[in-house]
Amino acid sequence: MVENIVIIGAGHAGGAAAISLRELGFSGSIRVIGDEAEPPYERPTLSKEFLSGADASPVYLANEDRWSELKVTLTLGVSAQAIDRDARRVTLSDGSQVSYDRLVLATGGRARRLDAPDYPRIHHLRTIEDARTLAAAARPGARAVIVGGGVIGLETASTLVGLGLSATVLEAGERLLGRNTPADAAAWIAEAHARIGVEIHLGRSLKTVTERPGGLTVGLDDGTTLDADLMVVGIGIIPCVELAEAAGLPTAAGVLVDADYRSLGDPDVFAIGDLALRVFGDAPAPRRMETWAHAQTSARAAALAILGQPGELEPTPWFWTAQCGHMLQIAGDPSVADSVVARGDGVRLYLRAGTLVGAACLDQPRDFGTARRLIGKALTPETAADPRADLRKAAA
Ligand code: FAD
Ligand code: NAP
Repeated sequence: MVENIVIIGAGHAGGAAAISLRELGFSGSIRVIGDEAEPPYERPTLSKEFLSGADASPVYLANEDRWSELKVTLTLGVSAQAIDRDARRVTLSDGSQVSYDRLVLATGGRARRLDAPDYPRIHHLRTIEDARTLAAAARPGARAVIVGGGVIGLETASTLVGLGLSATVLEAGERLLGRNTPADAAAWIAEAHARIGVEIHLGRSLKTVTERPGGLTVGLDDGTTLDADLMVVGIGIIPCVELAEAAGLPTAAGVLVDADYRSLGDPDVFAIGDLALRVFGDAPAPRRMETWAHAQTSARAAALAILGQPGELEPTPWFWTAQCGHMLQIAGDPSVADSVVARGDGVRLYLRAGTLVGAACLDQPRDFGTARRLIGKALTPETAADPRADLRKAAA
């Protein structure tokens, strides 16, 4: 009998799991433990509207009244320090202990750091506090050097330029957005950055950074040096697996879970969101899914499994990034495609053996919505390539 559910991590996935459990009819106790002072909030705005000041209110998953209506206990500003799986008990940093029937791990990830001194002019961007600190430092006219040409680095560069700073991006790879975006769509983003004046150095990484009065001197691996007033490091995240590891749960580059997000080592423990690494058959997925949509869908899937309710059809994975006044949306897995159909300027459809496996759309929300629904269906390339034709007809 499940009466008592504890969720560790009061971020997007942890908060969404608590809400899903109630929406699915669970009437027992739910406690969410979070080490940030804030109640669960969504992070996407932190590199966009929140940082730019266009909308400085955090996007909370629910307000105080709603949490009390839902009878969800939020224990904030406290971290979980140990899990005793035999006693089904979690020890918190304030010395207290909480018992569970089912435990959900939603500890996400922390920003990866450079091997560099902890200068205050070097920023990371994961939490509201990080975004507030960076916003306070982002004065018009200042020069920002951004390490990492992934989503954080590029969204931040775009927002900082909007605030009147100059931005230089250093990306170690040979192209931007190498982790999660096909090359042709990444090229759209590179052009957009060039138009707003962001300077991008590909195949370049940071060698040294030193503090001098009033700024930083940044040394690159080719010997070039740059003067900067601030630096932002966006070189990925490290999943917070330590608690799970110490509790003897199987982990790799994440907490290993089955298709229902249940730990491979303990049927009473689940892991969701950025932390989860799913295993299908014998093989772990190639990577963790680090997206807003996955925080939502993994929370719901785990809640269904905890309550013994039937699973739902898994939605196609997708994410968006907003930069330089553009909205790029990606669905499915373009990396497994063997051909690509260009549909006008801003839509690319990725096929494998004639079946749609992925889509990338720049400022084309309608085609994106259709393409998402068509993933897994065979497409007629000629119809799909005609931007005047209804994309749905390509699947007929
Ligand atoms: P998190 O949101 O990181 O939450 C984990 C929480 O657990 C944190 O509060 C952490 O402090 C806490 N915690 C960790 N260890 C403990 C412990 N031992 N005890 C208690 N608490 C603990 N995705 C998109 O699809 N589109 C976007 O445009 C987009 N923009 C983003 C912009 C930014 C700046 C960032 C940082 C992320 C963005 N994402 C975006 C990604 C998305 O926000 C994440 O995938 C999502 O937040 C993951 O949710 P999570 O709950 O797994 O992890
Ligand atoms: P990311 O997407 O993994 O990108 C990091 C980039 O930095 C990669 O291209 C990486 O190249 C590069 N890099 C790594 N080390 C470097 C170095 N020393 N010098 C120069 N470049 C280096 O991670 P992120 O952009 O930091 O984002 C962090 C988290 O926030 C992720 O979970 C991300 O999904 C999330 N987020 C999502 C969005 C969105 O979806 N719109 C927006 C913001 C943040 P290699 O791949 O070669 O290592």
